[in-house]
Amino acid sequence: MLNFTYQIGDSLYINVTNRCNADCVFCDRKGEAMIKGYNLKMKRSEEPEAQVYIDEIGDPTKYKEIVFCGYGEPTIRFDVVKEVAKYIKDKGGQTRINTDGHGNHINKRDITPELKGLIDTVSISLNSVDPDQYAKLMRVDPQMHGEMIDFTRKAKKYTKVVMSIVGLNEVDSEKAKRFVTEEVGVDFRERAYF
Ligand code: SF4
Repeated sequence: MLNFTYQIGDSLYINVTNRCNADCVFCDRKGEAMIKGYNLKMKRSEEPEAQVYIDEIGDPTKYKEIVFCGYGEPTIRFDVVKEVAKYIKDKGGQTRINTDGHGNHINKRDITPELKGLIDTVSISLNSVDPDQYAKLMRVDPQMHGEMIDFTRKAKKYTKVVMSIVGLNEVDSEKAKRFVTEEVGVDFRERAYF
């Protein structure tokens, strides 16, 4: 059974889309797309309307936070994210989005002001401080690294931003932490994929 929402710990995750502008070497989006026994594999034609998520959420205060996630890049369906986030905030819940930070590129406009009041925390995957390594890991153009940093700097004016790095061996996490906290000026977290 395909899961549109799934609980991990105290948080409820929203499976927004399996689509993504990137194609990370470590991502199982095109594989089984299973997380902790939940089946997240979703065709574009199966992507639900906002109301389906809202009905599954019910009372958002039951959860520590509601996380717009994937497998996939949630800013591809930014209108749906905003509609569901508005419901959550109106009902007193907490919201987070896990993103690759390419949302302005994807939507062809600066979406960061629209995060204000709707998304409490933006978690952006740094993946690497080096644009070429970033491009290799995500199979994107190296210029997307600058795009992601620009998105981060803009987003921090409107909401709390955390840059995260998945514990990859070849990545120097200390270097990443210094870059994130000193140069970009947002919080840093090393994390598992979810
Ligand atoms: S950005 Fe996220 S969803 Fe997209 S390919 Fe990479 S890990 Fe998968």
